[in-house]
Amino acid sequence: VIAAAKDIEIATSQTPKDISELASEIGLLTSEVDLYGKKKAKVSLKVLDRLRHQEDGKYVVVAGITPTPLGEGKSTTTIGLAQALGSQLKKNVFACVRQPSQGPTFGIKGGAAGGGYSQVIPMDEFNLHMTGDIHAITAANNLLAAQLDARMFHEGTQTDDALYGRLVPKIKGVREFSPIQINRLKKLGINKTNPDDLTEDEIRRFARLDIDPSTITWQRVLDTNDRFLRKITIGQSDTEKGKTRECQFDISVASEIMAVLALTTSMKDMRERLGKMVVASDNSGQPVTAEDLGVSGALTVLMKDAIRPNLMQTLEGTPVFCHAGPFANIAHGNSSILADKIGLKLVGSDGYVITEAGFGADIGMEKFFNIKCRYSGLSPGAVVLVATIRALKMHGGGPKVTPGAPLPSVYLQENLELVEKGFCNLEKQIKNGLIFGVPVVVAINSFSTDTVNELEKVKSMCTTAGAFDAVVCTHWAEGGKGAVDLGNAVINATKNKSHFKYLYDLEKPIEEKIRIIAREIYGAADVAFSEEAQTRIDRYKNQGFNDLPICMAKTHLSLTSDPNIKGAPTGFQLPIRDVRASIGAGFLYPIVGTMSTMPGLPTRPCFYDIDLNLETEEVEGLF
Ligand code: ADP
Repeated sequence: VIAAAKDIEIATSQTPKDISELASEIGLLTSEVDLYGKKKAKVSLKVLDRLRHQEDGKYVVVAGITPTPLGEGKSTTTIGLAQALGSQLKKNVFACVRQPSQGPTFGIKGGAAGGGYSQVIPMDEFNLHMTGDIHAITAANNLLAAQLDARMFHEGTQTDDALYGRLVPKIKGVREFSPIQINRLKKLGINKTNPDDLTEDEIRRFARLDIDPSTITWQRVLDTNDRFLRKITIGQSDTEKGKTRECQFDISVASEIMAVLALTTSMKDMRERLGKMVVASDNSGQPVTAEDLGVSGALTVLMKDAIRPNLMQTLEGTPVFCHAGPFANIAHGNSSILADKIGLKLVGSDGYVITEAGFGADIGMEKFFNIKCRYSGLSPGAVVLVATIRALKMHGGGPKVTPGAPLPSVYLQENLELVEKGFCNLEKQIKNGLIFGVPVVVAINSFSTDTVNELEKVKSMCTTAGAFDAVVCTHWAEGGKGAVDLGNAVINATKNKSHFKYLYDLEKPIEEKIRIIAREIYGAADVAFSEEAQTRIDRYKNQGFNDLPICMAKTHLSLTSDPNIKGAPTGFQLPIRDVRASIGAGFLYPIVGTMSTMPGLPTRPCFYDIDLNLETEEVEGLF
């Protein structure tokens, strides 16, 4: 069977059930569900409290081989597997996926609702505004950016009295200083920890932030691929009195607030993380935070609805949480901890939560284990590793694959030699899962052009390489029915508790943690730190940020730093150009190569095909 229809046609041919009906089917109380129209709902965090004695379900992460630029079907497999477990094998199941950015939806990649007969519906609502979480992030991010520049402007143009007189009662009312604030007080020579003990003069000195503009790391954001905002000059109106500054816009999903949303575990925790976000340093080199700028309360208010996971459904009516979608290079590329946690309670001890990790397993899965699981405390039972014949052929030396261009003919005909040669990448990614003590099930996502010989070859090589099982699946063409074998393999793989362990201890020096990831996961011989990277590392250590997990900002198209190098090379040096920090989200991110945080529009953007059918008011041309 081949799904010949377009994704949007398949998605709209199936009428989704009322989301309130799904909510009650999965045991949610009416008081825990806020409807956003008929097809989407937000779910209250109170579920976690109500079901706190309920044993969690099995936790399964979907990761992938190092992909071609076309994507190898991780989202499609996450949804297909959930459909197989739910509608075919009659298990309680939740799929947890990221919310896509409008940048790629209108730009080059298209939507992220899965594909073929394995999709989240309604896919236009999924891919566009959903329930407004990304807009909330944009608003919060830009309020902080506005306050940062306004505060510097006011400090530069107003007298102390005019500026800080009004702050005194506010600071007096603070119950306790955060460790970062106590640190800053110390630097000012004020060795007091109780806000009530500060003199008026000390309060004034404390309130003056003295931000060094050259150290600002907080940017404005927008959820549009707009390359002309990559470098801008702000403050050019006369009213800003010549205080111009060069800066940039990032795409909204690259905001640290998106990473905070994905990693937070409660409203209180989110308030703390938002407050801890470092936006710059002061003139003495100390970090300046959102809390210092007095804005973290307002940020929490803007984010109070976004923190609740969004309930939607698959084409086969099984539940899906779509929540948070941080970048997978400068952030950790995984959907939210809260959605996974609520899902695990709702499915109960015999059920399954299938969650997706972005990019290849060397990045998304490694960060899932070392960052997301560390903050959630959850222990995964199995990895599903998605592989395709076309990606294996590419790793075996096949010609370049370009989105939008026809696939070169080797990808459309049987070629066992290329498949065998390219298997080294899949083998390395299988081993990467096993390093964490978790069984690996390979899902061979089959395309209509794959041959039985090719598929069988990969299957047998996977089990030799240490995979728990390897299964050929056809869920793109057939929906849940096409992933029943995969569902059974996952059930078997999660029967026994896994021996999950982290790759490194947080207390190790920053350099050592980076080296461990580079050597063990990528196959590098060593890492080479630039002078800039070393300076930053030393600064973070001095500022007390050594003990954070590492979030590598590396290309997903290669195990190395060079996207053109395929397969599974060893013995290479991994260059670390720079190291940056998302203190609120809770990780340091070394930059390997160059990273764009504001994509551009291609010559032929996806939106050329998108239109509204004026008769039915249905969206056409999304994929
Ligand atoms: P990833 O999540 O790994 O980036 P996706 O699941 O988004 O990948 O799939 C990438 C694209 O490939 C989507 O357009 C999807 O519809 C398509 N696709 C996935 N699996 C298949 C398949 N077996 N046959 C044909 N197209 C597929």
